[in-house]
Amino acid sequence: MKRSEWFSLLEKCLEFHDQWQSNWPAFVTDPSVQVRSEQITTALDALFERLRESYPFFHPNYVGQMLKPPHPVAVLAYFTTMLINPNNHALDGGPATSYLEREAVAQIAQMLGYTDHLGHLTSGGTVANFEALWITRQIHPDRWVVFSEHAHYTIRRACEILNLPFAVVSVDPQGRMDLDHLEVLLRRHPIGTVVVTVGTTGLGAVDPLEEILYLQPRYGFRIHADAAYGGFFKLLAERVPPEVHPVPFQSLPMCDSIVVDPHKHGLQPYGCGCIVYRDPGVAQYYHHESPYTYYTARELHLGEVSFECSRPGAAAAALWTTLRCLPLHPYAGLGNILSRTRTAALAAYRFLEESEWLAPVVEPALDIIAFFPRRAQSASAVTALTDWLFDQAMHHMRPPIYLSKLKLPTSWLQRRFPNLVADTPETTVLRSVLMKPEHADTVRSILQRLEDRMRSHEAAE
Ligand SMILES: *Cc1c(COP(=O)(O)O)cnc(C)c1O
Repeated sequence: MKRSEWFSLLEKCLEFHDQWQSNWPAFVTDPSVQVRSEQITTALDALFERLRESYPFFHPNYVGQMLKPPHPVAVLAYFTTMLINPNNHALDGGPATSYLEREAVAQIAQMLGYTDHLGHLTSGGTVANFEALWITRQIHPDRWVVFSEHAHYTIRRACEILNLPFAVVSVDPQGRMDLDHLEVLLRRHPIGTVVVTVGTTGLGAVDPLEEILYLQPRYGFRIHADAAYGGFFKLLAERVPPEVHPVPFQSLPMCDSIVVDPHKHGLQPYGCGCIVYRDPGVAQYYHHESPYTYYTARELHLGEVSFECSRPGAAAAALWTTLRCLPLHPYAGLGNILSRTRTAALAAYRFLEESEWLAPVVEPALDIIAFFPRRAQSASAVTALTDWLFDQAMHHMRPPIYLSKLKLPTSWLQRRFPNLVADTPETTVLRSVLMKPEHADTVRSILQRLEDRMRSHEAAE
């Protein structure tokens, strides 16, 4: 957004604020909190100096981790609301923003296909998943949790904290939960919950939710979907023709709980995850008696159905306002943005398939692409060339390209690439999250530059 546009919109936000504050009598700000402008300027200058070290998450040349700046709409809404600083732990803390939270969460629940729901925002996917497993433990106190090898590392951590017995399911050559292994575990242990990852953080793989649902009547487990990164791709499953494999997404409404992170693909600043349950009756498991939090309303407070206490009302306001401008629609707003990021991933895949120098690890299911130096013949050589290219791209290319790395078990990689010599147990490959719509037009030239670097490296040897 242009500076002039920022100025006029920020001015509007400040005007609202002045006008709102003028409803109450003026008072003198205590000198203890006053800081001179020059001092603020000096402190800010020191901050800017430190911030210069940041990687350019906003730029298409940043094709690394799952990072991008929030949308300006979210920033403006967050800023305006933060000046009030509501706390959505209770209606008294966030009388206006609690309703914004409910409305925004309802839109997410509707996007996922729930006809009824209970849900709220969280500080992120970790807490949202933790909360779902905490509820699971209350429903099935002595039963096990299973999740795939490629599930987010915090799922295992949550099980450990909750003291829930768990088992890890292996993955198939696409990086999805292996159904045969899942069935072995279902026969062996009393399993209360299967955690299905809809978009793994490493490869972007989607577990076969529909087939897992077939097993449900026989074994009677709950299903929790960790769609922290992948959830918003539900919009692309609804396009005609669908732009992601639609089947697992169509099964989402059958899951007992779903986690989606608006601070990943929902254009929000960090501090915005979301948990939704299919059955509003799970509210009973949150019951607590706090002596001080709830005074006014008879309705159920968000704080009564949330694990966390304090939560930023500003996060709810930012999400709510963003969704007004960029709705959860297959052919508008978020749907259009995701369609571009998906286009980028498929363009990258086609490029890599034909490349003599770089090869894709798997066909991307969403918008993450993993790839590696094609000519390396052993796991150790792949890792060494990956490290080299990662370093070259970031430190020696002008302008730099920012990538990320992913460690994969060599035995798994060998199932896809049988000629790979397994001289190390793990292999490091490159990984790019193509989560900016601008990647649709730029990813090919970015990969071309990486390929050129590989070519000149070999020529020099
Ligand atoms: C990012 C992510 C998480 C963790 O969420 P945070 O918001 O980082 O706490 C969990 N699961 C998946 C699949 C993720 O992509």
